[in-house]
Amino acid sequence: MSATASTPAPAKAPPLEKQTTVGNYFVSNYPPFSFWKQEFVGELQAALERPPQPGHPLGIYLHIPFCRKRCHFCYFRVYTDKDSAAIRSYLDAALQEFALYAAKPAVRGRKPNFIYFGGGTPSYLSVDQLSHLMNGMKALLPWDETEEVAFEAEPGTLTDHKLKAIRDLGVTRLSLGVENFDDHILEINGRAHHSKEITRAYGYARELNFPQINIDLIAGMVEETDANWRECIRKTIEMSPDSVTIYEMEIPYNTTIYKQMKAEGKLVAPVADWETKRRWVDYGFAELEKAGYTISSAYTAIKNPQKTKFIYRDRLWAGADLLSLGVASFGHIGGTHYQNHHDFDPYVARIQQGELPVYRALTPSADERLIREFILQLKLGHVSRNYFAQKFGADPAQRFVTPLQTLQDWGFLTIEGDTIRLNREGLLQVDRLLHEFFLPEHRNVRYA
Ligand code: SF4
Repeated sequence: MSATASTPAPAKAPPLEKQTTVGNYFVSNYPPFSFWKQEFVGELQAALERPPQPGHPLGIYLHIPFCRKRCHFCYFRVYTDKDSAAIRSYLDAALQEFALYAAKPAVRGRKPNFIYFGGGTPSYLSVDQLSHLMNGMKALLPWDETEEVAFEAEPGTLTDHKLKAIRDLGVTRLSLGVENFDDHILEINGRAHHSKEITRAYGYARELNFPQINIDLIAGMVEETDANWRECIRKTIEMSPDSVTIYEMEIPYNTTIYKQMKAEGKLVAPVADWETKRRWVDYGFAELEKAGYTISSAYTAIKNPQKTKFIYRDRLWAGADLLSLGVASFGHIGGTHYQNHHDFDPYVARIQQGELPVYRALTPSADERLIREFILQLKLGHVSRNYFAQKFGADPAQRFVTPLQTLQDWGFLTIEGDTIRLNREGLLQVDRLLHEFFLPEHRNVRYA
């Protein structure tokens, strides 16, 4: 089935970007964050007073904003200068924030289906801090029905003692931020860890039988080469992790690399162009497939799809509630998006006053929720029309006639019965293609 014959024909050739310039490439939510406003925070307060929608899973995300060093490509809210007293006050604030939510009708008594510790660097925390935090969370909403506890780790912060504690506390998915295996490339990009720490942490994590170990790589770090990238993929396959995530390097505005570009009057970032980065991901995916992995999204390869799931991603992309805690974190509860204060002191101060530290919010319309789920699921490479017909009462092939036709004309997409499918070439550049599905007022805006 094709979109429609009456649609005006778009340009045949996709407008390919070549160079990596400043800006956000990765689409993680919809509508864009710049449309979330302080004046809509009351809508979140109202949503929290309503009981949860039946059958809607609840996830918890906690942002740990501490790192040993700031990577030159990092655009997250992170601090490298907080002492243990400041960290403790942050963890206590996050627990208090959680308690405020846990008392609300939208959250009260619910059992989290999935939990995600992101950052920053969650593994920067000490064993005592982790125990205090996780035990405090379990006391508020028990984890006995939780299917996945995911935890991001920087290899150089992982001692054997800490890894064992992380496992004992209930983490099921350990994600190692490897990014690259070459010490010079790690160093020049501002990473804190070294290659020997990767091997050591991975070996011990394997011995501890984490149900899932993921390795994160970045295609296109400063000074990356074809030969080194091939070596990174070879070493990754040799380690045989349960899943591998590969991101293409982007240079948003608040990165050290952009600040340096600006100071030097440069428009093009000192990293590989988009075609090269796509070629590197394509190579990585092809090698992983040869080694028996399955490509499960634009970024992820999985060794055994029967055994290894990524619940956080799949639930989030299907519209689950996400109770987000911590500075600058993004959540979605009872139909309303929200983001917390993005600075440490106001975040902690608001909670100490007994208030939710929410900074801006937005309640998407039913059509915007449909667009959000559709574009996020397109990152999987295939979307079921029937799923959307059942959930939203709309067939995406009819709702998105023009953009689907555009992507078909560009040679990236087919519609086969129930399935709208991106080919590999489309999947490798999916984030830039997703803008075709945005409402007109959401196009050409800075994404943040
Ligand atoms: S470890 Fe991650 S969060 Fe921390 S500075 Fe580097 S990229 Fe940013």
